[in-house]
Amino acid sequence: MIYLCGGLKNLSVKNAGIVYGFMDGSLDFNPLNLTARKELLNVIPAGPNKTGYYSYEVEQSHGTHIAVLDEKFIETAKYNRNVFDKNNADGVFTGESGIALCIRTADCVPVLFAGLNNRGRIIGAVHCGWKGAYGGIIKNAKNILTDKFNADVRDILIMIGPSICRKCYEVEEDFLNLFLAKDNLNRKFFQKTANKNKFFFDLKGFIKNELILNGFSDKNIYDLNICNFEDAGFFSYRRDKDLRRQVSFIALL
Ligand SMILES: [Zn+2]
Repeated sequence: MIYLCGGLKNLSVKNAGIVYGFMDGSLDFNPLNLTARKELLNVIPAGPNKTGYYSYEVEQSHGTHIAVLDEKFIETAKYNRNVFDKNNADGVFTGESGIALCIRTADCVPVLFAGLNNRGRIIGAVHCGWKGAYGGIIKNAKNILTDKFNADVRDILIMIGPSICRKCYEVEEDFLNLFLAKDNLNRKFFQKTANKNKFFFDLKGFIKNELILNGFSDKNIYDLNICNFEDAGFFSYRRDKDLRRQVSFIALL
């Protein structure tokens, strides 16, 4: 089931042939489930790209590296329609059509990017757990959009998918202190829980703040507002303690 899929609402990229979606738990996208990759490619609406889609996944090692796919990618990947990049990246951007950028999550935040530059369309997909967000992956995304794609980040649309909400993500005091050591203003993303020395962390709030600090526009951030931990229709590592993952994707037709 595609939870949300379709053209972007914002006028600047309306009818731009960008398709994106957030799948729920009816498709288990854990890295070992190769059938799920084929199923995903089958549900993405066909565009003028007659050769079909490639799926492209990054390793998701909770780092801050972001891959960029150029036209050479199609040539190197043509014998494998489900590419799994083992180069330690947690995000990927491209201006090439026919590639479904996929992010696997089960509590972490999938963040999709879409926009235009003077040469055409740009899409991106980033896996944001606390480590990557803390380490600056949003800043890296901004740098790629400005330096490699010459885009104005104020016009980039951002879609935030199913992820753990600020009422469900309980952390220890050490975790809070790590964020406070970086910036005392980070206290606003934490709230005391009923448990001693435990806090709720607003990961999505932290990520949105990072986006705004890096020049993205608040009005271009769309949050699906689904907590996968509360909604049994989605996977949650904190709840289920297993390898099952939902997938978020974005592609240029
Ligand atoms: Zn929640």
